[in-house]
Amino acid sequence: MIVMSDTIERIKCLIIGSGPAGYTAAIYAARADLKPVVYTGMEPGGQLTTTTEVDNFPGYPEGVDGPTMMVHLQQQAERFGTEVRIGMVTAVEFSNEVGGIHKVTVDNNKPIEAETVIISTGASAKYLGLPSEQRLRGGGVSACAVCDGFFYKGQEVAIVGGGDTAAEEATYLAKLCTKVTMLVRGGQMRASKAMQHRVNSTPNIEVHYHTEVDEVLGDQVVEGLRMVNRQTGEKEEIAITGLFIAIGHKPNTDIFKGQIDMDEVGYILTHGKSTKTNKHGVFACGDAQDKEYRQAVTAAGTGCMAALDAERYLASID
Ligand SMILES: Cc1cc2nc3c(=O)[nH]c(=O)nc-3n(C[C@H](O)[C@H](O)[C@H](O)COP(=O)(O)OP(=O)(O)OC[C@H]3O[C@@H](n4cnc5c(N)ncnc54)[C@H](O)[C@@H]3O)c2cc1C
Repeated sequence: MIVMSDTIERIKCLIIGSGPAGYTAAIYAARADLKPVVYTGMEPGGQLTTTTEVDNFPGYPEGVDGPTMMVHLQQQAERFGTEVRIGMVTAVEFSNEVGGIHKVTVDNNKPIEAETVIISTGASAKYLGLPSEQRLRGGGVSACAVCDGFFYKGQEVAIVGGGDTAAEEATYLAKLCTKVTMLVRGGQMRASKAMQHRVNSTPNIEVHYHTEVDEVLGDQVVEGLRMVNRQTGEKEEIAITGLFIAIGHKPNTDIFKGQIDMDEVGYILTHGKSTKTNKHGVFACGDAQDKEYRQAVTAAGTGCMAALDAERYLASID
């Protein structure tokens, strides 16, 4: 059935996702009178709601726990009139025209039209899927060395992965921790030669090839790791307090496939220094378009940019 346009809600600025990028976009869009509507998705508040301590977001000298920080961001967005709705965007049909109206479906049944769309759907870190790993997430198992490495200063940790991110995070951790055990599944790292060289020339990183995690040890917090050699089947236990998983991220952009330009992994491509996508009036910010930095503050920064880009776009077509 084709629904007539005048029965469908028209939104000036639709924001998809409620992490730091989405709420910051909402703060700016609301103050610019774009009357933004945020759809929260399955994880209201985004990735930071899964962590306890956030110590590196400016403005919190004593640190803050992730869920509290995201409530603050939501309240700040609502203060200026942002409407926050629980709901998942399930389909989109973006216009190719300048000034065109974008069609969006929420929860498979609610059609919406939007003059501008800000995509801030974030990304999800990949985990190994072991029950012991899932149980100890937040208790010593982390997917972000830059976020959580500091808490393991002077301790022994392990990192899983063999790509550029794993190599970079291993060298980052090596500056803070006394020893970093790196587990690489294959016989060599996938990281660039330069990164491999950095790892291999860092004395407190010990690389174990053909090795994966058999079990993360510990009741409430990580106390150790049992690793297994994939070739020999030999198992070895080591004492560690932190386990970092660096096997990649998946941007939450599947619903935009075929609608918007993205790279082979699914990160949305934006033009130059802006948040503009290949569709007029559609902007992308935060981890959904950032495979480099993946921090709350950088997500917030690009959220601000997306709202400014949306405002300028609307002004230009008025
Ligand atoms: C355990 C952990 C600890 C971290 N610690 C820190 C830290 O200390 N400091 C730091 O700077 N960074 C930290 N990070 C990274 C930080 O959380 C991310 O960089 C940041 O949250 C990215 O923000 P975002 O707004 O782009 O996306 P996200 O926070 O990922 O939010 C995405 C939002 O999009 C929504 N969404 C997805 N799909 C849809 C859809 N189809 N429809 C509607 N909504 C949708 C989700 O529900 C969610 O609300 C941590 C990450 C993790 C996982």
